[in-house]
Amino acid sequence: MPTYKAPVDDTVFLLSDVFDYANKANAPEFSEAPIDVVEAVLSEGAKFVEEVVQPLNRIGDLEGCKRHDDGSVTTPKGFKEAYRRLVAAGWVGLAGDPSYGGQGLPAFLAVLFSEYEYSANVAFSMYPGLTNGAVAALTVHASDELKSRYLPKMTTGEWTGTMCLTEAHCGTDLGLLKTRAIAQGDGSYAITGQKIFISAGEHDLADNIVHLVLARIEGAPPGIRGISLFLVPKFLPGVDGSPGDRNAVVCGSIEHKMGIHGNATAVLNFDGAKGWLVGEEHRGLPAMFVMMNGARLGVAVQGLAVSEVAYQNAAAYARDRRQGRSLKGAAEPEKAADLLLVHPDVRRMLMEIRAFNEAARALTVWVALSQDESRHAPDAKARQAAEDRLGLMTPVIKGVFTDYGFANAVKAQQVLGGHGYIAEWGMEQFVRDARIAMIYEGANGVQALDLVARKLPKDGSRALLAFLAELSEFLAEAKTDASLASYLGGLQSAVGHLQQASLWLSRNTVGEPENAGAASTDYMHLFGLTALAYMWARMVKAVLARQSRGESSLALDAKLTLAKFFSERMLPETGAHLARLSAGAATVMAMPAEAF
Ligand SMILES: Cc1cc2nc3c(=O)[nH]c(=O)nc-3n(C[C@H](O)[C@H](O)[C@H](O)COP(=O)(O)OP(=O)(O)OC[C@H]3O[C@@H](n4cnc5c(N)ncnc54)[C@H](O)[C@@H]3O)c2cc1C
Repeated sequence: MPTYKAPVDDTVFLLSDVFDYANKANAPEFSEAPIDVVEAVLSEGAKFVEEVVQPLNRIGDLEGCKRHDDGSVTTPKGFKEAYRRLVAAGWVGLAGDPSYGGQGLPAFLAVLFSEYEYSANVAFSMYPGLTNGAVAALTVHASDELKSRYLPKMTTGEWTGTMCLTEAHCGTDLGLLKTRAIAQGDGSYAITGQKIFISAGEHDLADNIVHLVLARIEGAPPGIRGISLFLVPKFLPGVDGSPGDRNAVVCGSIEHKMGIHGNATAVLNFDGAKGWLVGEEHRGLPAMFVMMNGARLGVAVQGLAVSEVAYQNAAAYARDRRQGRSLKGAAEPEKAADLLLVHPDVRRMLMEIRAFNEAARALTVWVALSQDESRHAPDAKARQAAEDRLGLMTPVIKGVFTDYGFANAVKAQQVLGGHGYIAEWGMEQFVRDARIAMIYEGANGVQALDLVARKLPKDGSRALLAFLAELSEFLAEAKTDASLASYLGGLQSAVGHLQQASLWLSRNTVGEPENAGAASTDYMHLFGLTALAYMWARMVKAVLARQSRGESSLALDAKLTLAKFFSERMLPETGAHLARLSAGAATVMAMPAEAF
C-alpha cells in the first residue's frame, strides 16, 4: 500500500530561503500570514491529509462512485465523513473571504496546501478544488444578491461547485455550445441542455451543488460572443437560505473511466432548470475564465502532486528491494543481492522525477505568490508585473507539470518493475490518476497554443520580455559569485535557446499561423524547462547561503546534486525543442488528410 508524507520542510525552505518570505510578509497581501503561521498551517494540513485523506485513496479507486436510479450518486466509503471533517476544520475556506466564513489567509497558502491534498488523493480533492474555483468566479462577477445567498455556504465548502462547459459536440471549441437560456421575466432564466464530463457533478458530500453553466441566451449571436454564464443550484435555496425545492437538473449517468474513480464525472441534464445570470449577458466566457485560470493552476499542481507521491513510493521501494549487484562489485557482499539503488539507471529514473518535483514546487510557490501580489500589492506596477507573470506562467505550468506528472508516474512505476504493474502496490493508480490532468482544463496542446498565440504577443510581449530581463539580471548578478557561477552553465544556454525560439516565433508566424501551431508544444516545454532551471539556480543560491553560514545537512547536499543532475541530464532537452520547433510546419502539414 502506498504511503505519503507531505514535504512541508521543502515548502517552507522555498518560502523562507528562496523567495525571502520574511520580507514579503510585511506587505499587506501577506500580513495575515507570517512565516510561523504559514508553517503551522502547512504542518496541520499535512497531518490532516496524511491521516484522513490519503488512506481513502485506494478505496476510492476500487469502489468508485455509484449512480442510483433516482439520479443520486454515492461517493466511495469514507469520503463523506472525510469531507465533513475537511469542511469543519476550515480547510476548504482557508483563503476564503472572512465575511463569507473563510479564514482570510493569502491565496498562495491554499495552493501550497492543495499539493498535499492532491498527492494524498486526487479524486477526493477535486471536490473542494472546483468549489474554490466557482467561489472565485462568483466573487468577481456575481451580483451582490447571488453572492450573499451562495458564497457563505460555498466558501466554507458546505455546498460544492462545478464548472459546466463541455457538451458532447463541444469540448475545446466552446463556440459550438447549444445549451439554451430563456429569460423568465422575474430575473431568472430557464436553462435547457446537456453537459457531459462534469467533475463532481453529482454526489452525496454536500447539502447542495452549485453549477456554473455556460449557455446561450435566446437570440444571442453565434460563436463564443453569444455565451453567458449562469448559476444553477441543485436545490433552490429557500427564504432562510437552506436548500429547498429540487431544481430541474439531474445526473443522467456517470462515466466509467481510466482513473480518479472517486470523483463523479457526470452527464447533467438541464430541463428548464432555474438559473441566474452571472456577470453580463454574452460575456460568459471572460467570467468563466476566472474559474478556468484558477482551475488550470490547480490542475498543474495535480501534475506535481502525483509525481511527488509516486516518487516517494518508488524511492522507498528502491531503498528496500534487492536485485543484482553493483557494476563495481558487490556493495553488500554479506547480502544475497544489492539494493536497487546501486544501479545507475534506477537512480537516473528517481533523480529525473525528484529534480523535476523540487523545481516544480519552487515554480508553484513563485506563481502562487504572484496570485496574491497581482490582487493586493499596493503598488500598481507590482500588481501589473505579478499579473503578467501569472498569465504567462499559467499555460506553461498546466501543460508542462501535467506532461511530466504522467511521465514521472510511469517512471516511478518502472522502478518497481512488475510490481509496479500490480494494483496492490498503488503505482498503476498513480499512472491512471495522473493521465487526466493532461486533458481536462484545456488539453495540453491547447495550453501550448494559448501560450504562443495569446500570452506571448499580449501587450507587446510585455510579460515575456519581463521574464527574459529577470533571467538576464539574475545571471549577470550570479556570475559575480564564484561558487554559484559553476551551476549556471545549463541555465545560460537554456535562456539562449528560449531567446532564439521566441525570435523564431516572432519572425515566422506572421501570416504563417501553422508555424505557431506546429511549434507550440516544443516552445511550451522549452519555456517550462528554462523556468525550472531558473528555480534550480535560485535554490542553489539559497543552499550556498545556508552552507556559508556553517549549516550542513544531507538535504542541502542533495539539492546541489539534484541541481547539477537537472542541468546535465534534463536541461539539454531545450536544444532539441529549439531544433524541432524551428523546423516549421511545412512537413507536419505536407501529408494530405486522406493519407492519415
Ligand atoms: C474525467 C474528466 C473530467 C472532466 N471535467 C470537466 C468539468 O468539470 N467541466 C467541463 O466542462 N468539462 C470537463 N471535462 C471535459 C474536458 O475539459 C474536455 O474533455 C477537454 O477540454 C477536451 O475537449 P474534448 O474532449 O471535446 O476534446 P476535443 O476538443 O475534441 O480535442 C481533441 C484533441 O484535439 C486537440 N484540439 C482541439 N482543438 C484544437 C485546436 N483548436 N488547436 C489545436 N488542437 C486542438 C485537443 O488538444 C485534443 O488533444 C472533463 C473531461 C474528463 C475526461
